[in-house]
Amino acid sequence: MTIEYPERIELANTPTPLQRLQRTSQQLGVELWIKRDDLTGCELSGNKVRKLEFLFARARELGVDTVITGGGEQSNHCRATAMAAARLGLRCRLLLRTIKPAVPPKLTANILLDKLAGADIRWIDHDQWKDRAALFAEEAAAVNAAGGSAYIIPEGGSNATGAWGYVRAAEELHNQLAELPSKATTVVYACGSGGTGAGLILGKKLLGAPFAVAGINVCDDRAYFVDAIGSICRDFIEQYKLELQIDETDIEIVDGHVGLGYAKSRPAELETIRDLCRREGIVLDPVYSGKAWHGMLQELATDRARFGERIVFVHTGGIFGLFAASEAFADILRART
Ligand SMILES: *Cc1c(COP(=O)(O)O)cnc(C)c1O
Repeated sequence: MTIEYPERIELANTPTPLQRLQRTSQQLGVELWIKRDDLTGCELSGNKVRKLEFLFARARELGVDTVITGGGEQSNHCRATAMAAARLGLRCRLLLRTIKPAVPPKLTANILLDKLAGADIRWIDHDQWKDRAALFAEEAAAVNAAGGSAYIIPEGGSNATGAWGYVRAAEELHNQLAELPSKATTVVYACGSGGTGAGLILGKKLLGAPFAVAGINVCDDRAYFVDAIGSICRDFIEQYKLELQIDETDIEIVDGHVGLGYAKSRPAELETIRDLCRREGIVLDPVYSGKAWHGMLQELATDRARFGERIVFVHTGGIFGLFAASEAFADILRART
């Protein structure tokens, strides 16, 4: 079917390449491809840019002068939002979560980029983060009181509007896979706030695409994401008046790979990132894509056929997060191996 998309502002370099990883495929005994969504751009790179194309189009329709969003201190989503805002001549306010707001983290990696792009940063702690909806509204009220107008983008850009980004990515991938011999295929992605998963699942359904979609969660648990993704899908179907049915069986979440917790890495995960880089010249990030890739390898180690004959791993980006974790890598890079 032809999908009718809402307004979109072009921010991402698409279509992104779909590349076959020859040596890794051989090693794992499964046909492995990587969808290079880390190449959607440079400052504006990774999966969030696809969502922001639709979210900023909505902000423009509403005629606001400011966008407000938030996330973890090294949020890729916040950095991409700050950059997109700069590119489109809008202001950006960020609520960034950190352990001790009175002592903000160093000006590195994504934080450096947020600041370069001129974003206004308000540091909040983990407890305050639980009330983020109220804090976003508070920021919006402050913008209004100063004579401006604001559009609130949720964490990760993960809502019905943002989900269009990965509906479009699913269509792109569907077309790329149509060029290959047909095989049982699973699209594997890192799941952090659910928007990428929701978009991929909705896209697959709208297209009637033959591939399966499996998310590897990097925080929370399966129940949390079945709920979060289910709720984005329901909003999407209602808001855009679609004839679709999404239920729990459509939402595959591969749990058990969160490890030490969100944005915390075990040495084995960092070794996985190192080894892939040495074998293929591709860099994953420690918080999302590296953790998900590591989880995928664990799954394949117990069952090589776990994801079918062909896997498409979505490289969701996050390279700047690697620079925030440089100290953690020191140990595994010290030996001259
Ligand atoms: C945000 C992010 C994800 C997770 O995507 P969600 O849509 O939030 O689930 C995965 N990888 C990277 C690099 C990200 O920045």
